Amino acid sequence: MGSLPDLTQNKTVRILEDAERHGYGVIASIVYNVEHILGVVKAAENKRSPLIIQVFPWQVKFSDGLLVRTAADAASRASVPIAIHLDHCQDEALVKLAAETLPFDSIMVDMSHHEKAENLAKTKELVSYCHARGIATEAEPGRIEGGEDGVADTADMEGVLTTPEEVEEFIATGVDFLAPAVGNVHGEYGPKGPNLDFARLEKIRKQANGRVRIVLHGTNGFPDDVTRACITKGVSKINVNKLVLEDWNTHMRENASQMLLTQFMEEGVKHVVAMQEHQMDTRMSNVSLHHSFSPSEMAHVIVGSPAILLCAAMLYLALVRTLRYNRSNAVKREYPTRESYRNMTLEEAWKIQSRLAEVEFPTVFSSSVFFALFKVFLAIDQVEYRLTHHQTYGIPSVSRLLAATGQLTNVRTASKRAADTGVILTEVLLHHPSDPRAIDGIARMSFLHERYRRTGKISDEDMLYTLSLFVLEPVRWTKRIDWREVNEVERCAMGTYWCWLGEAMDIPYTALKSHGSGGWANGLHFLDELEEWSLGYEVGNMVSAETNKAVAKHTVDIALFNIPKVLHAVSFDLVSCLLEPRLRTAIMFERPSLLASLALKVIVALRKLLVRHFFLPRPYFLRKRWFSDELNADGRFNFEQYIAHPSYIRPTFYKRWSLNSWLIRMVGGSVPGDQGAEYCPQGYIITELGPDDMRGKGEHDMQATRDRLSRNGRIDCPFDRW
Ligand SMILES: [Zn+2]
Repeated sequence: MGSLPDLTQNKTVRILEDAERHGYGVIASIVYNVEHILGVVKAAENKRSPLIIQVFPWQVKFSDGLLVRTAADAASRASVPIAIHLDHCQDEALVKLAAETLPFDSIMVDMSHHEKAENLAKTKELVSYCHARGIATEAEPGRIEGGEDGVADTADMEGVLTTPEEVEEFIATGVDFLAPAVGNVHGEYGPKGPNLDFARLEKIRKQANGRVRIVLHGTNGFPDDVTRACITKGVSKINVNKLVLEDWNTHMRENASQMLLTQFMEEGVKHVVAMQEHQMDTRMSNVSLHHSFSPSEMAHVIVGSPAILLCAAMLYLALVRTLRYNRSNAVKREYPTRESYRNMTLEEAWKIQSRLAEVEFPTVFSSSVFFALFKVFLAIDQVEYRLTHHQTYGIPSVSRLLAATGQLTNVRTASKRAADTGVILTEVLLHHPSDPRAIDGIARMSFLHERYRRTGKISDEDMLYTLSLFVLEPVRWTKRIDWREVNEVERCAMGTYWCWLGEAMDIPYTALKSHGSGGWANGLHFLDELEEWSLGYEVGNMVSAETNKAVAKHTVDIALFNIPKVLHAVSFDLVSCLLEPRLRTAIMFERPSLLASLALKVIVALRKLLVRHFFLPRPYFLRKRWFSDELNADGRFNFEQYIAHPSYIRPTFYKRWSLNSWLIRMVGGSVPGDQGAEYCPQGYIITELGPDDMRGKGEHDMQATRDRLSRNGRIDCPFDRW
């Protein structure tokens, strides 16, 4: 049997998985003509948002697939992910024809006009047919009432609300997305508006349990808050027709006879763009409330007289006040008592932590991880010393200094190591714990350490200490310099997540107090004990040494690599201020000048003030991005951030010619695309990262880790068993 196409790479599947994972909704817009395609694609690019373009079967027949090919062409040229979908295909022959001959990413196999048994049998057959061609599928358990543009009205058959049993039956057909009937109808809702059965939707989501994505049909005239509520209940694909095309329709009726055709078309596209953008703002709803004050709305408020301007300013400040602590308060509401902490699942913990790194404290989290690396490099340096001197514990000495400088004189080697570590860590941390990319990252990390651990060159305590730094440093740095602290629930989430990750890395917790004596009550309990142990370890092991100074000097060189030479002394002083006294003593840096300490205090206080009172929280769609979501043409991923050298960065026009790139050029640094293949602009494969001599090695070991993780792949509640 030939191997089936890999559906995990299917565009609609990937778009919707990301949406469900991150709690937003993707607008699936019906298009009837080229102007609609132009409008929805432009809106998606303006909003940096994914999109699904869909057509009715009528369109396939009417234009003999021309509009579908046009949509696919637009999607392939867009800078955001766009999938092409066939809505409500009730004709079996047409499903097959479309799957065979047209560039659809997904097809809704709608057999709901048949009786249940036949519906299921036909759905199953067509799902396999589509899957064999790499096309994902959607189906409708229950029956959504009403008809729409050539889709047969099922009103003569009784509309049936979807039950959890039906969800199960449809999942058994292998279908990828389900469009349940929960009181939604095709067509119009009448004066009362939609009345959805949210309790049922909730049950359906529970029953689906992440095995299929949930789709919402029949959204004509939906108020924003209803759409938002549906997203909160787990809907990731939102089919829209009038919500995006209403103004276009009005425009047609009112202006077709009065405008020049070209002007009429251009104006029409603008209507589509505006409505589509509004929908895209709405879909982010449960992630943040920014849509209630989207930039386009702000523009309307701010033009006007000084009085209005003042009002707007006050309104803005009040809004910042209301929204700034929203995310922090939301998690506290979710887990109101310490008792409730033990119910936190790994998935929830991961989600809370990702939000901290992507939107809440992106700058401080990433710099603190860099400084965690700083400490880790000191540890690695000790290990390398042990390796070269066949010793289990290194004592700082002159020869060690030589060994260390030999390894690290080359800022490029150090920079590559920092980049690789950063890539693996972010791949693991920012992907769902069961995502293949997270698992590959863990497998690679395990493999890179395995050789040293087996031979005792890296002790379990070294591993535990490193783990503790990656979770504790961001908490400490946030507390010291960011606009608010990581709250207790968030710390619990971080503890929960890292406890799992440590286990996944096979790091024993025997050194921790409660190990063996009943274990930990929750993630927070674990984190507190880890911190206590880690501090003790640090006091004993972080001693000052000339070698440390050399390693640290090179690490700071990476951080300051792209800063003009004239500012080096000042920057060095500021970095030195940022370090905790114990670390500073260990690496034998001079005490920073009084002026630098003062300057840093002012900068930190000013930033706190500005962020707390004047900045709206960063919306999710503007989250800090670390890597590409899609494989590039070379079958690799690209990284998006760099400090010293542009490792793994794709040399796009923007990346090469942005203001930042010009500044880097002026100090003689490299920007993406410079130096040929030196900085791997083609990207990385997770399983190839690490030192050059490990390249291409370890597949066997990594597969063993993957198998082990999938065997005890529990991603529910890590503290249940204790
Ligand atoms: Zn529908």
